[in-house]
Amino acid sequence: MPNASVARPRQGRALWSHLVAAVGAAAIAAAACGGDGNAGATPAAATEGPPAVDPGAARAPAAAPSPGPTTSLPPNELGRIPVLEYHLIQDRVFDEFERPPARFRQDLEVLYAKGYRPINLTDVLDRTGLQALPKGTSPVIFTFDDASPEQFRWIERDGQLIVDPTSALGIWQDFQKTHPDWGNKAVFCMLPAAGAGHAFFGGKNVQGQKPEWRFKKVQYLQQQGFELCNHTLYHARLDRAGDQVQEFIARGQLAIDSATGGTYKVRSFALPLGMWPKQKSLAWHGSWTDPKTGKTVTYDYPIVLEVSGDPNVNPYDGTWDPHHTNRQIMSGNALEVLLKRLEKPGPQGRYVSDGDPHKVTRPEPATADGKK
Ligand SMILES: [Zn+2]
Repeated sequence: MPNASVARPRQGRALWSHLVAAVGAAAIAAAACGGDGNAGATPAAATEGPPAVDPGAARAPAAAPSPGPTTSLPPNELGRIPVLEYHLIQDRVFDEFERPPARFRQDLEVLYAKGYRPINLTDVLDRTGLQALPKGTSPVIFTFDDASPEQFRWIERDGQLIVDPTSALGIWQDFQKTHPDWGNKAVFCMLPAAGAGHAFFGGKNVQGQKPEWRFKKVQYLQQQGFELCNHTLYHARLDRAGDQVQEFIARGQLAIDSATGGTYKVRSFALPLGMWPKQKSLAWHGSWTDPKTGKTVTYDYPIVLEVSGDPNVNPYDGTWDPHHTNRQIMSGNALEVLLKRLEKPGPQGRYVSDGDPHKVTRPEPATADGKK
């Protein structure tokens, strides 16, 4: 089932047509993280720069989570888990790749009110995060692709770096102030070296973002508990990448390793434009040797994210295949349509926690008259 709706080629996308063109093969080296053409460069820049990150904003909510809204649907731990896909959070909407900040905030409100709570992909993989969900709540996974400043923008104020409240992360943190059981769980599928500011959320002073903040932003997300996901070096289509498939993926990996000082194990990978390489397995396992340093980077991802498709089954379903994880692009009223579709008991409905971390509650079969 997860493979039923293979992502379609998504050509002619305004967002990526200008972006990839802005980089081009010759410019990759200059745009790469660290600024010296080596995405695996020393993370020295990450520890430099005078402004401190505002510690208030950096803290996760300290208050004991209060139980928020739950669903009246019965426990259903064989249900579906939606994986939402966001790109730019901005007011100007051209197609399905932009979400206005106010609408993004509304998405959080809608999900929370229905009893959804965010978790990471790794929480599904390990089962623990799934099993830890309070009774009557459902998991939802947010993915943010392409590492734009619109997702994570800093502003300098009184010598401190503040998360811009109009960026996706700023909206998220503001939402947490009044919804303390909304955790720091979301997946950032990042590019280190694409154009138009899609380089660890900035670079080249796009939207006031400084190049030396890039590694710090990745570290910040890691420290906050968000999941770091690889989205290749600069978003080249892997179906056309020829013998560079492993290089593009490995250099994305290398950049995250550099930013985090090798302290983070990346476990998820998002296919640019949902396009698979000719040899599919190279999306989740491969290696590349840097000709300059002779160093070999190996990657091994249990999760590969596609672009579109049906909501995924979960690890307790025998057909679960995280190498083909579907997502739903959040545009227009796609969220409402999706949630309505999941608002039912049984394997086609949403996963609903039983609140017991030690057991997996399967939905009871309905009787002929539709009642239990
Ligand atoms: Zn992308």
